Amino acid sequence: MTDCIFCKVAQAELKARIIYSDEDVVAFHDMNPQAPTHILVIPRKHIPSITECSPEDLPLLSKALEACAKIAEHESIRESGYRLVLNTGEDAGQVVNHIHFHVLGGRKMAWPPG
Ligand code: AMP
Ligand code: ZN
Repeated sequence: MTDCIFCKVAQAELKARIIYSDEDVVAFHDMNPQAPTHILVIPRKHIPSITECSPEDLPLLSKALEACAKIAEHESIRESGYRLVLNTGEDAGQVVNHIHFHVLGGRKMAWPPG
């Protein structure tokens, strides 16, 4: 996907504060953090959203979730708690159409979300 900013981050064509990367998954700081800890976790593969996710992509999502949990530990928010967010589509406010988990923590979260 030539026009996708997160594909560009994954291919190091766009600079980001990467904190974890392997053959399937990349994690980096959100450029506009909404909490003291705000990390984005993406699969390298361009999947637009969970809606377009196919069964063969599920192992990739599983790896991304595993990375989220490891990051929470690394960022010292495992015990205090954290929120994983997967915005999907317009009403949810998804603006980057490359599937990504937000890992948010370091402050008390409200529910229901805005
Ligand atoms: P979403 O609304 O779920 O699509 O979230 C997209 C997120 O990506 C937002 O929180 C943005 O601040 C973040 N973002 C967009 N571009 C970049 C970038 N180049 N580096 C880091 N974070 C980004
Ligand atoms: Zn992409």
